[in-house]
Amino acid sequence: MALPQDQIPLLALPIEELPGQGYRRGQLAAWLYAKGARQWDEMTDLPKALRAEWAEQYRISEFTEVAPFPSQDGSVKYLFTLLDGQKTEAVYMPYLNRKTICISSMVGCPAGCTFCATGRMGFGRNLTAAEMLDQVLFAAYHQQHAPREIRNVVLMGMGEPLLNLENVFKALERMLHPEGLAMSPRRITLSTVGIPRGIYKMAEWGLEVRLALSLHAPDDETRQRIIPTAHRYSIAEIMEAVRHYYAKTKRRITLEYTLLKGVNDHDWQARALAQHFRGLSVHMNLIPWNPWEGAPHQGTPRAQILKFAAILEQQGIPTSVRWSRGRDVGAACGQLALKQPA
Ligand code: SAH
Ligand code: SF4
Repeated sequence: MALPQDQIPLLALPIEELPGQGYRRGQLAAWLYAKGARQWDEMTDLPKALRAEWAEQYRISEFTEVAPFPSQDGSVKYLFTLLDGQKTEAVYMPYLNRKTICISSMVGCPAGCTFCATGRMGFGRNLTAAEMLDQVLFAAYHQQHAPREIRNVVLMGMGEPLLNLENVFKALERMLHPEGLAMSPRRITLSTVGIPRGIYKMAEWGLEVRLALSLHAPDDETRQRIIPTAHRYSIAEIMEAVRHYYAKTKRRITLEYTLLKGVNDHDWQARALAQHFRGLSVHMNLIPWNPWEGAPHQGTPRAQILKFAAILEQQGIPTSVRWSRGRDVGAACGQLALKQPA
């Protein structure tokens, strides 16, 4: 019996290249992506001998172990152990009828943002396309949903997706494929710390997924203080890439801005921030900072969050405040760091 590590991950294959000819291949695709099978024995309409043959060569799951941590607000954090022993996380967030999963694109993250627990961990490795897809499939299975009932995916977990472009692109292809997760591209959001090369690439992809930009400061000096790798790209370079993306796609851009007390939450910064987005269609999400142990920051008080939002609105930037979910189990934005909740 081949070890899982030596098998070909099924989820890594383009849907057209799944094993089996015509009808059989379609059945396998349906078991994986429509019915969410996680075992070969579930695939009862495939001949037993064929299943046994495939079970030798291919693997379905990318995880050796999964620990779920349910939050009081209904969201669930999943801690996944990958085949090489590394770990990553995803968060399932039900809200009324909308089921969203926030997935990771890396183990850890090389960007090192000072306010983010994942940044503090450093970089482990890139996740493969199969590992990203399996986060969605596992969460659906565990929540007793068919995979396609998960209608929204956000790439806002661990890692910087635009520094793992090739694998992210492959995962998105399978999410959008009609025989894959058959998702609407408008319901997939890729969040980036602002890697110009990756933003240009996204404009070329033509996949129509949404772009979310984490700017976190209107000026390079403040930005470099909180995003140590930001000196590689100035805000001007990032905004040039964003303008190109907008000109090419005409799609509204989501902005994310984590408010840190006394660092990036001054009134003048709200006014300066608005200047960057003239002529673009954007929506600003202000994120109250979520605390984690040992962090060198404090969150902006509620009154200043609301004032910052009001200034942006006055300047013509539609703004909402994203009060986080899953804080009690370390599942909120920027708290993902492989820790078990206390
Ligand atoms: N690397 C990508 C996607 C993952 S981070 C990015 O940076 O966009 C997703 C979002 O979580 C980012 O907007 C980030 O600023 C935010 N975030 C990180 N740490 C946070 C924290 N402690 N509290 C609130 N938001 C945080
Ligand atoms: Fe990486 Fe995003 Fe965290 Fe920054 S905020 S360290 S880019 S995951």
